[in-house]
Amino acid sequence: MIISVASGKGGTGKTTVAVNLALSLEDTELLDCDVEEPNCNIFLKKKLKNVEDVSIPVPIINEKCDFCGKCSEFCEYNALAVMKGNVLVFKELCHGCGGCKLVCPKDAITYKERKIGEVAGEDNFYQGKLNIGEAIATPIVSAVKKKIKKEKTVIIDSPPGAFCPVIEAVSGSDYCLLVTEPTPFGLNDLKIAVEVLKKIDVPYGVIINREGIGDKRVEEYCKKNNVPVLMKIPHDRKIAELYSKGIPFVLEMPEWKEKFRGLYGAIR
Ligand code: SF4
Ligand code: SF4
Repeated sequence: MIISVASGKGGTGKTTVAVNLALSLEDTELLDCDVEEPNCNIFLKKKLKNVEDVSIPVPIINEKCDFCGKCSEFCEYNALAVMKGNVLVFKELCHGCGGCKLVCPKDAITYKERKIGEVAGEDNFYQGKLNIGEAIATPIVSAVKKKIKKEKTVIIDSPPGAFCPVIEAVSGSDYCLLVTEPTPFGLNDLKIAVEVLKKIDVPYGVIINREGIGDKRVEEYCKKNNVPVLMKIPHDRKIAELYSKGIPFVLEMPEWKEKFRGLYGAIR
């Protein structure tokens, strides 16, 4: 079973839920796909081995080019600009789709691999990391997901938000846990995340983190829209202190292991 943990808004406790859920269940594999800021290992403190580069192919224009402009017209990402006697390649914008080569009538395009990040980990934990300054996170998420071991219960810590890397992380999951906080900002971004999950047809439920701050509008929204609220994690000083020390709270508060197992049972 693959369970992804997502949140419309950053900072809602998504990583906390992913790590504590993984530590509460037997035979899990945790994949940190929040590749711009992978934080799971702050809590797990594993020495990461098996580092693999992740690269994408970017175009190189050769002397056969007659500057017709077809490649730049084709490129959705504005990674190519054809000028008189020159083709500029903005490599940071290139998604490595390979389309420009297909449309080039002069066979003037070859590709060179460009490293944008890496995947590291072992056995039951892997994380992806996008290099600083890079904008294209989706290939790193895909590379982390190649580590999925289908015989395990896989927990995926998705990036926050509702953009391409999130869709890549969550797609193919059997269930998605949406972690939110009971504030107007949390509600606004939860609504966006719900719309995304409806589109990609992944079943979902909500975890309200820091219950006690804010108001009841998230719960009212969930009730009105038949979105199950599967767990509420209180705004609790002990949980916050453990978080600040990088300690998963299920390790010091074992009653929460039972609650996470109950959550897993409810999902199943
Ligand atoms: S499509 Fe090919 S020939 Fe035309 S500008 Fe691009 S690289 Fe040059
Ligand atoms: S490989 Fe795709 S994204 Fe990159 S420049 Fe060519 S068309 Fe654009």
